[in-house]
Amino acid sequence: NPADIPGLPPGVPEFLRESGIEALYPPQAEAVDAGITEGESLVASVPTASGKTLIAELAMLSSVERGGKALYVVPLRALASEKKAEFERWADFDVDVGISTGNYESSEEWLASRDIVVATSEKVDSLVRNGAPWIDDLTCVVADEVHLVDDPNRGPTLEVTLAKLRRINPDLQVIALSATVDNADEVADWLDAALVKSDWRPVDLRTGVHYGGAITFDDDSQREVPVGRGERPTAALVDDTLDEDGSSLVFVNSRRNAEAAARRLADVTADHLTDEERTELAALADDIEGVSDTETSDDLAAVVAKGAAFHHAGLAAEHRSLVEDAFRDRLLKVISATPTLAAGVNTPSRRVIVRDWRRYDGEFGGMKPLDVLEVHQMFGRAGRPGLDPYGEAVLLANDHDTMDELFERYVHADPEPVQSKLAREPAMRTHLLATISSGFARTRDGLLDFLDRTLYATQANDTTRLESVVDSTLDYLVANDFVDREGDEITATGLGHTVSRLYLDPMSAAEIVDGLREAEDPTPLGLYHLVCRTPDMYELYLKSGDRETYTELCYEREAEFLGRVPSEFEDVRFEEWLSALKTAKLLEDWTREVDEDRLTDRYGVGPGDIRGKVDTAEWLLGAAERLATDLELDCVVAVREAKKRVQYGVREELLDLAGVRNVGRKRARRLYEAGVESRADLREADKAVILGALRGRERTAERILENAGRRDPSMDDVRAEADADAGAD
Ligand code: ADP
Repeated sequence: NPADIPGLPPGVPEFLRESGIEALYPPQAEAVDAGITEGESLVASVPTASGKTLIAELAMLSSVERGGKALYVVPLRALASEKKAEFERWADFDVDVGISTGNYESSEEWLASRDIVVATSEKVDSLVRNGAPWIDDLTCVVADEVHLVDDPNRGPTLEVTLAKLRRINPDLQVIALSATVDNADEVADWLDAALVKSDWRPVDLRTGVHYGGAITFDDDSQREVPVGRGERPTAALVDDTLDEDGSSLVFVNSRRNAEAAARRLADVTADHLTDEERTELAALADDIEGVSDTETSDDLAAVVAKGAAFHHAGLAAEHRSLVEDAFRDRLLKVISATPTLAAGVNTPSRRVIVRDWRRYDGEFGGMKPLDVLEVHQMFGRAGRPGLDPYGEAVLLANDHDTMDELFERYVHADPEPVQSKLAREPAMRTHLLATISSGFARTRDGLLDFLDRTLYATQANDTTRLESVVDSTLDYLVANDFVDREGDEITATGLGHTVSRLYLDPMSAAEIVDGLREAEDPTPLGLYHLVCRTPDMYELYLKSGDRETYTELCYEREAEFLGRVPSEFEDVRFEEWLSALKTAKLLEDWTREVDEDRLTDRYGVGPGDIRGKVDTAEWLLGAAERLATDLELDCVVAVREAKKRVQYGVREELLDLAGVRNVGRKRARRLYEAGVESRADLREADKAVILGALRGRERTAERILENAGRRDPSMDDVRAEADADAGAD
């Protein structure tokens, strides 16, 4: 009973009841018994959608009630704003929520006044590196999706960050939320936390495999779902769910597949709509088209009008939330999605169909089966509490052997154990430098002692591997002048401190420094290529024909590249170099004002990807500018200009205009063509001309003029004149 929970601000139990929470779910009750509202640490390993968020909220509220400050760590930036919005419901209890999403190199001091801060683990790591003073005030930290410490790329950051926060405040309460994993006890051991491990779910879940016209469930029961001639099994399953007025989530393995599936499934959903739904969907499709002027926007609107949608990381944030909301409101009947949706977005559905259980994996060199953990998280999205009698999760098989395999591999299987990836070299490079730079360790022994607080150390039964990775990493850092070693003493150099604060992988920094040192008069393409070939940039893949195209470009513009061009015979290196060139060329096109639509076509990417590359390049070029400044290199101005051009996506002559808020690349070009060429021109030029260039949008024009510092930005006089002219006619 919520009224019996100790430690909460007065009124919270009543508030919970009003928001539909009459009683705690069993895992939540166990968590309260374990003392989460009295400062105790906890690992909660429970299924998706069984109320983990409330466990975290109870812990944070009680910590704040005792005068403390809480931090909620999310795995994806996209989830941060969602969580913040969720926590804002506690405003009535005087709990302020802040979100930390700004760029890396800042300490965001205003967050000191917030009771709960939401941030990604990368952001928290960088706040610690930059010495944000409020970090010392934290009393409670929540790690959402803590099983992601297993992720080779991002896991180590979460692991090291938790270790640092616990070192800063040894009494820190840690609440770690995890999917159901076998070795949650090891995670609890590591964090000195109690463990709640449960399979309880608010809605029953049946899992099974569809084959030969029927779903066979884990309890051996069957449901007939025949597949018509020429029909696809996914369509038959979606149709079958709709017959019972239920919705479906279909998981596929690529964005292209998600879009193609949505197109096909839209023909199924279109037959099940009421007139009223058709009208509402048409309005939603209009909203979606209005978000951006891209093909993705149009494609999404087209399927949405028929009651279906696709969802993947390439979608704009507004698209995503429009789609998620409409699906929750049961207006959209099916979403075909890549697994990002399974990761965190709270979008349950009557039936979940895992269509693709293999995905292309570059490192593996072919199609690789998904992890059990990942598939179970997709399963977990089945069943909407209070709406569905049960949820169904279905895999698809096209022969009997596959059906058996799927039962064994996923239905009857336990998820993989969570395994620390900290000993991987890129992680070590970055985190050792940061640990030294922010003074957490000053000797080799000190480093090893710090690392002893990580999950890696908890799991390793002998530490020789860790020691040898530490030694080779230290050698690397010393050789590249990031770290000085004198006797026992280890300190970061000026360059090392800068690199750590900039949140760069030391290997990226080394590449950039080498490139800039020899650059006399670098061109933008040369600089883009330099940052694109660092390990901090995810490069575009080469598709068929690309090798030839970019090899040609490589010879054409050879003089512009910084550093040695690998020979065509160094197969792998040359290939990577070309991928970086393709990415750099995308950036160059972007700064030559090529339309986003053309870019998505030309490079085979979504608008969200372009944004991602642009943001990363802007950050890396900003870092390059700082490094060049510190090293007193001649190329500083060239680097700054290249960064600005990427930031605004414009040619050189528009830099001044595009720097005015609300202008943007397209409007800057139209203004320029109308003769308004600079910020100063915005302050002086004829308002009617400006309004014309802005296609008559008065509000926009006023905002822009205000931002440009014009004394009287109002468009009233222009309108009055126009009205007078019209009257004279
Ligand atoms: P998880 O984080 O475990 O995936 P959530 O915390 O998002 O799951 O919870 C899923 C849904 O269950 C939310 O809509 C939440 O409001 C609801 N919920 C949580 N706890 C309770 C409860 N005790 N009683 C009723 N509904 C609850």
